[in-house]
Amino acid sequence: MPEGPTFAPPTDQSILLPFAGTRREIAEYEAHGGYQSLRKAVGMTGEQLVEEMIASNLRGRGGAGFPAGRKASFLAPGGERYLVINADESEPGTFKDREIILRNPHMLIEGILIYLWMIRGTAAYIYIRGEYHKEAAILEGAIAQAREQGYVGSPLMGTDYVPEVYVHRGAGAYICGEETALLSSLNGDRGQPTAKPPFPAVSGAFKKPTLLNNVETVATVPVILGMGGAAYAGIGTEQSTGTKMFSLSGHVRHPGNYEMPLSATYRDLIEGQGGGLPEGRTLKAFVPGGSSMPILMPNQLDTGLSFEAVVAAGSMAGSGAVIVVDDRTCMVRFALRTAEFYMHESCGKCTPCREGTRWITELLRKQEAGLGSSEEIDLLLDICDRVEGNCLCVLGDACAMPVRSHIRNFRDEFEEHARLGRCPCPDDAPMSELYPPLLRAPLPMVAAT
Ligand code: SF4
Repeated sequence: MPEGPTFAPPTDQSILLPFAGTRREIAEYEAHGGYQSLRKAVGMTGEQLVEEMIASNLRGRGGAGFPAGRKASFLAPGGERYLVINADESEPGTFKDREIILRNPHMLIEGILIYLWMIRGTAAYIYIRGEYHKEAAILEGAIAQAREQGYVGSPLMGTDYVPEVYVHRGAGAYICGEETALLSSLNGDRGQPTAKPPFPAVSGAFKKPTLLNNVETVATVPVILGMGGAAYAGIGTEQSTGTKMFSLSGHVRHPGNYEMPLSATYRDLIEGQGGGLPEGRTLKAFVPGGSSMPILMPNQLDTGLSFEAVVAAGSMAGSGAVIVVDDRTCMVRFALRTAEFYMHESCGKCTPCREGTRWITELLRKQEAGLGSSEEIDLLLDICDRVEGNCLCVLGDACAMPVRSHIRNFRDEFEEHARLGRCPCPDDAPMSELYPPLLRAPLPMVAAT
């Protein structure tokens, strides 16, 4: 695993990470106004803080885009309750939360403390992806510094409220990024999704009411309190306010994380910040929000980065991972690589996902080898239809949606594999730049018909 992501320079409108380099020492963070938003929060009631969040119209940055203020308001007052931060960042192409933790861990901790005060939480748990060893150590160190300064484990700023923050390391399962699976894992159970209701706001960590939010969402809260919810709502679009981190990867000159106002477009991100594609290459497609999202085409480059614009274009903003795909890429192999990932990460609890992801992968493997047929392309679409919307959690959809979009947009390329009996693309080199090689589970090949 590489040491860490490339730190992209701040963009013109960076407010979340408006500096280059890292700011891991608490003294440095405080010298730049750190923990002042917490001080402001302590002078407010929980209800006032929720109102400020609602005024900001911040939408969750984990993928679903649910309004964060409304989510906080769901927690019934009083009693034992928890805040859980989802740092199980595992969607292929996504590495933004990692950069927030690596560069500015105290911004996350300040956001956690504001949230804890808002809900008078018993404690906060940061559930961090198992492979994020360095990031977990940085968080532990930052919490220790905050403890020394009296922000954690002591009465908060003259009140009688004592916040506690813990880091809980996952074991590397993608599915534990799904909220109910994460909570099951945190509770010591098998990390598999559970049916809702009950929702986490009623029964979550330790079977108590729980507010669960993504790293970037929580890290944005000090910014919102600092500038005011209404001012924050003035950035971006009416339905998608503020700035957001985008992880840009694939066939682009300057991959990295970029913070963009949500009023910008994919062209601004890919061509403006990312420098466009390498010399001599043209854009074939791009993934707008993580590998589970339907791909978009070059004529959709001017689509806005906002949640609503991506939906109108036929996809979803998801985790904000933008993967650029150049003209050399075999789209059948790209679809296969995506399906293999989700098949491998399916927890196996429900049949449409467990069986469907495997069938999709088998048929794609056959297509990619040139052993498929036109009928089996239709069969693939049929299986995608049967998987999507019929699973306990969204992992089944995460496999079916991108595969269907690959076929819809590149049916000719799928047909050509079948007609030629081989892959027509010149080589497979570009694929390694899209996703790292995956563990290939041995699958029995479906017999050619
Ligand atoms: Fe598990 Fe897949 Fe069902 Fe989700 S959809 S519960 S990952 S089998």
